[in-house]
Amino acid sequence: MKKHIAVYPGSFDPITNGHIDIIHRGLQVFDEVVVAVARNSEKKALFSTEERVGIIRDAMADNCDRLKVDTFDGLLVDYVLSQGARVILRGLRAVSDFEYEFQIAQMNRAVREEVETLFMMTSVPYGYLSSSIVKEVASLGGDMSEFVPPVVEKALRQKFPI
Ligand code: ADP
Repeated sequence: MKKHIAVYPGSFDPITNGHIDIIHRGLQVFDEVVVAVARNSEKKALFSTEERVGIIRDAMADNCDRLKVDTFDGLLVDYVLSQGARVILRGLRAVSDFEYEFQIAQMNRAVREEVETLFMMTSVPYGYLSSSIVKEVASLGGDMSEFVPPVVEKALRQKFPI
């Protein structure tokens, strides 16, 4: 039987509990989820692409057989098709995410009609959570244990020693 695969693309700089929630929920719906770290977002990133991939693999170590962690550059829709997938999975938090996501989803559909973007609403505890806010709290020496798994906390502490 054909496997239903979703690609969950993003910067993941670094992965947060909000992302992990979307991955777990994605795995309830799809046979396989590919977490795809965008290489072109490295310029302004805190962690290199390789670091981000390593951190995601460590954070998701228990979920390995139906979860793949990869990188991509170039057109996302082409990468999605190369994975045997038809679905781009994205998370939506506040209304402020909508405009941006709407534009990208429209553009991706214009480029490759057969690729669908599906959105999952954030779970209540993570509605305010973003990689940027986590980096800001970390840079100020704040406690991040509620927002990220221990492996991410450790990686952030190495970037921002107290
Ligand atoms: P990008 O730079 O592509 O927006 P991110 O790593 O910031 O990449 O986010 C990847 C995806 O995860 C996006 O769809 C984003 O909306 C979603 N996301 C980020 N944080 C959360 C959260 N707390 N709850 C739900 N979805 C989230």
